[in-house]
Amino acid sequence: MAGLELHQVKKSFGNVDVIHGVDLTIEDGEFTVFVGPSGCGKSTLLRLVAGLEATTGGNLSIGGKDVTHVEPADRGVAMVFQSYALYPHMTVEENMGFGLKMTGHPAAEIKERVARASSILHLDELLKRKPKALSGGQRQRVAIGRAIVRQPEVFLFDEPLSNLDAELRVQMRLEIAKLHKELGATMIYVTHDQVEAMTLADKIVVLRAGVIEQTGSPLSLYDDPDNAFVAGFIGSPR
Ligand code: ADP
Ligand code: MG
Repeated sequence: MAGLELHQVKKSFGNVDVIHGVDLTIEDGEFTVFVGPSGCGKSTLLRLVAGLEATTGGNLSIGGKDVTHVEPADRGVAMVFQSYALYPHMTVEENMGFGLKMTGHPAAEIKERVARASSILHLDELLKRKPKALSGGQRQRVAIGRAIVRQPEVFLFDEPLSNLDAELRVQMRLEIAKLHKELGATMIYVTHDQVEAMTLADKIVVLRAGVIEQTGSPLSLYDDPDNAFVAGFIGSPR
């Protein structure tokens, strides 16, 4: 059971309130997409779930366990960023295994988990390469691989495809959908791309200035937006 429950989650930076008391339930295995204008707090909300930022109010549970004050490494979450953040001096294999090495996993287990992840992501042939010898899509696969090897219950994606060209974005989107199906993990995905949101999501969360405007299935938001703001995000191409 790895659903998520956010209860009145708040975040301020100094005296600036960025997240204003968010209530949200995400079911185990659900694919949830956060959309909203730049600066509305999508990344901050993901970082709060990951534990990369501390909440300034409310609480947050994963799989029924309150993790509000739990260290990121112990939350069972893994995050994939837009900027890959790969280590340039390490090979693909080392990049994928590094987190496990740091947390003291035995070498044989690391090798096995890396092998499994690279097979899922078609990276087998590239394990000995350094990031600079990879294409953008391959780098993003490695970044996803690094999350998979940790076997998290919850995957967090922060605009993972926005640095890729349009064709590759479509291909990677299909791969992420397949990954979700194969792993059955809970996933939260931030995107600017309306098509990504509509095709990947079980549930879309529309954010505006640190507040949830509406939550629902892609179809329900499309057919029945609560207001013009939601309609503008979901109903019409931008
Ligand atoms: P989004 O991902 O939706 O574009 P963010 O979550 O990155 O938005 O940012 C939401 C708001 O919080 C913005 O106004 C941003 O400037 C502010 N913010 C984010 N991180 C910090 C930080 N570390 N310190 C101060 N302000 C921040
Ligand atoms: Mg962001």
